[in-house]
Amino acid sequence: MKFITIDKKDWANGIGKSRKTYKLFGPVKDKNGFLIKSLEKDIMPEMDYPDSVMSAKSIIFPQTEKMLCTTLDESQEEHHIMKRVEMDNSPRAILGIRPYDAKAIQIVNLNFDTDDFRDPYWCDALNATTLIGLGINKPGPFDFSTSTGTGPFCEEGLDILMADLDDKYLAKILTDKGKAFMDVCEFEIKADEKESQALFDILRKEAEKNIKSHIDTDKLSEKTILELHDAPFWDDVAFSCINCGTCTFVCPTCWCFDIQDETKQKSSIRFRNWDTCMSSLFTRHATGHNPRATKTQRVRQRFMHKLKYFFDKYDQGIMCVGCGRCVKSCPVNIDIREVCNIMNTYKKQD
Ligand code: SF4
Ligand code: SF4
Repeated sequence: MKFITIDKKDWANGIGKSRKTYKLFGPVKDKNGFLIKSLEKDIMPEMDYPDSVMSAKSIIFPQTEKMLCTTLDESQEEHHIMKRVEMDNSPRAILGIRPYDAKAIQIVNLNFDTDDFRDPYWCDALNATTLIGLGINKPGPFDFSTSTGTGPFCEEGLDILMADLDDKYLAKILTDKGKAFMDVCEFEIKADEKESQALFDILRKEAEKNIKSHIDTDKLSEKTILELHDAPFWDDVAFSCINCGTCTFVCPTCWCFDIQDETKQKSSIRFRNWDTCMSSLFTRHATGHNPRATKTQRVRQRFMHKLKYFFDKYDQGIMCVGCGRCVKSCPVNIDIREVCNIMNTYKKQD
């Protein structure tokens, strides 16, 4: 492990050098808030940002992506044979990613890279990506990441964790990918390992103290799936939901998608698009039957997946990193912290 001090005066120069090797992404202000976007040309990441509306997940798992294509032109030799669309999987780096969003990418990875199945689109994109996190010195009011096993200075999933020390950054290199990035930037001022780690610990503890929002998940495992599934509170939880899907689209751990074919003249493309369990179309079968036809069933599915099914299946905590985006964005104030509390404290009446 290695610590490097980066004077903010040298930051732009070092980042500029990395552009020869890496395609860069980072927080950029948009009319709707901060988004993690491509830093084309000489755009610099706005590192001092409160939070991004969407997470960095979309850089690896885009909202829409071409998977396969073919031609319907029968004069062509390989007509009607679907082939993988060539992807740009050259090295890329995401700067200033929130630590909990890097942990979220690890959670999504559990779905796309398994012993039985490897999603090549996700895996190749993730392999090409270096994640450079920035610790959160001042967590926002919706942040409850300390309750979800992440926190403002969590290192899981990151290649480099940086801390903002006003006039400089202190960078902790966590992986070979992180080292390779630092090497091309030519940031070379080595920092003392013991002192640097102590500083990171102080910043982490200070930031964690400022997180006032918490959830308890300690009793979720005591309840059976059926107990929670059949509990009487779901109609109340779902009452005000308008099934807009916002909570799932802003969530860094949601991984649902839909596949669609689009044919134009003789060219056919198969796309993958983000989808949402909050939409009735998501589960409607070709027969017209819908196993989750009601709003209550869909809202229950979202919370049961995040707080019970995932919890039981992987034994790695809940499928939530505590970023608070869904709480902040829900137009009717449905709050996963409250629902988690209801589920955690629920006792079946005999
Ligand atoms: S954001 Fe709120 S209203 Fe929209 S689907 Fe999610 S819980 Fe329902
Ligand atoms: S469920 Fe809500 S708080 Fe949890 S990771 Fe998703 S958006 Fe963030």
